Amino acid sequence: MARDIVCDMAVDEETAADKHLISLFKGQTYYFCSEDCKRSFDAQPLRYTQEKPAQLYAGAPAMPLPKAQQSPPSQETDQQNLSP
Ligand SMILES: [Zn+2]
Repeated sequence: MARDIVCDMAVDEETAADKHLISLFKGQTYYFCSEDCKRSFDAQPLRYTQEKPAQLYAGAPAMPLPKAQQSPPSQETDQQNLSP
């Protein structure tokens, strides 16, 4: 089973191939449940293929903030050790 990247529905590869509901993009084969989904993808393939990495990246900046608050105290102790 493949997944329709447009509507996130499960799609049978053979059924999709039978109906020509397939698109090739950057060496990857995409299967669709309907002609509507295939057209949406063909019109803006980047919108669907880049959506997931963009969401992961958007969640990343929240992580370093707590670490930045913890690092200043450790730097102070390092300076005290360097100057006897
Ligand atoms: Zn679909």
